[in-house]
Amino acid sequence: MHAQYTADEVAAALPGQLPEHPSQAVEVIRLLLRAAEPGLVGTGAGRFFGWVTGGVLPAALAADWLTSTWDQNAMLRASSPAAAGVETVAARWLVDLLGLPSGSGVGFVTGATMANFTCLATARDTLLTARGWDVARDGLTGAPRIRVIAGAEVHDSVPLALRYLGLGEPERVAADPQGRIDLTQLRRALARCERAEPTIVCLQAGNVHSGAFDLFSEAIEAARAVGAWVHVDGAFGLWAAASPRLAHLVDGVAQADSWASDAHKTLNVPHDCGLAIVADPSRLHAAMGMQGAYLIRDGGVDPLTTVPELSRRARGFSVWAALAQLGRRGVAQLVETFADHAATFAARVQRIDGLHVLNDVDFTQVCLAAEDDAATGRVAAELNAQARVWITPSRWQGRMVLRVSMSTWRTTGEDLEEAVDALRAAAERSRRADGEWETTDPSAESARTCAEAPRARQ
Ligand SMILES: *Cc1c(COP(=O)(O)O)cnc(C)c1O
Repeated sequence: MHAQYTADEVAAALPGQLPEHPSQAVEVIRLLLRAAEPGLVGTGAGRFFGWVTGGVLPAALAADWLTSTWDQNAMLRASSPAAAGVETVAARWLVDLLGLPSGSGVGFVTGATMANFTCLATARDTLLTARGWDVARDGLTGAPRIRVIAGAEVHDSVPLALRYLGLGEPERVAADPQGRIDLTQLRRALARCERAEPTIVCLQAGNVHSGAFDLFSEAIEAARAVGAWVHVDGAFGLWAAASPRLAHLVDGVAQADSWASDAHKTLNVPHDCGLAIVADPSRLHAAMGMQGAYLIRDGGVDPLTTVPELSRRARGFSVWAALAQLGRRGVAQLVETFADHAATFAARVQRIDGLHVLNDVDFTQVCLAAEDDAATGRVAAELNAQARVWITPSRWQGRMVLRVSMSTWRTTGEDLEEAVDALRAAAERSRRADGEWETTDPSAESARTCAEAPRARQ
């Protein structure tokens, strides 16, 4: 699960110079395997709890092999009727499964970052068009200023997307202790909006540290009152909607205008696959579409009118395959299992001396810490030295934390036991450790040890 080589060691294991002459394909692949395999991280393994990274379902993997083998260009209906047709069905299933307005436009992008970008580009263009400003023709210089409001714990990919879009840093509204946008503060910020001022409100389904969900019904109602566009980053959290048991977490989310999500996280399709969903497909097509004489158009909705790219991978095959393998009930079970694992894990960890669970565990995320950053850093280092599980250190609300995400279908009850056991051993050993760690910056140390995982352990 842990890599034996660092990135530099992988690079050094490959020939330094571009070969002058052709080689046999099989030799090339042998060379690649030899150098790259020791640098692999077992992100889909049952005991991998790092980031929110997802595993790979068998049908999705097989469909992904076909995607490369078929090598379709998913740009147009004409460039691949297969890709466009399968994406149409996968899009319809997704919108239905996630409880979003039927007929929403869906773009298959690389990940939630580009999904945020695509949705926010649509928001920007729609708001400016409504004020008589044609951003496609006239650009942003001199355009009415767009006010963008986000919670203090918005995922960093949202400000990144806003930066790409020329909209600058969002105004941050305070968050509650779980990281949800504070409704009183949001209402106060919105009260400062003039009715005519174009405004985007960015909400979140699934805080990456706590798993918390903004209160959509209330937040969206407040945003609607000033005519704001509401965008929801639901990279992994939007999938709560697929479970009758967990759907209450996203109550009201379907009232938003756009949603970003990932298929390569909770749905367990291979990287890379994100989903940009916009309630009014005509707005998505207006923002992303391209006129071009060389394109063969048949009058239907071409995939290039839903994403920033033209030529691209046919991502819909593996999404369709994952959905077909699981069915509605199977997706619900997958999400519920992640949430159950998180709850079980948190309950077990609470009983370990010296470790505390910091968040309300309602969904798939658990944040742990020891009494202070130095102690948490020692636990992280011990955990990494054991290399039995993969848990990433992070910072949340000003302190160092160990963040555990449930996101691969492979995780079993035994994996959870192993993780609890590894944490208990790490906590015990770190308490016995002498002062050797105290001289180092714990967060820098654990970030380093996690990136440069120990050798000869897998
Ligand atoms: C992972 C994540 C993103 C970014 O998604 P990518 O697929 O890595 O681009 C955005 N928002 C949230 C809440 C996430 O968890």
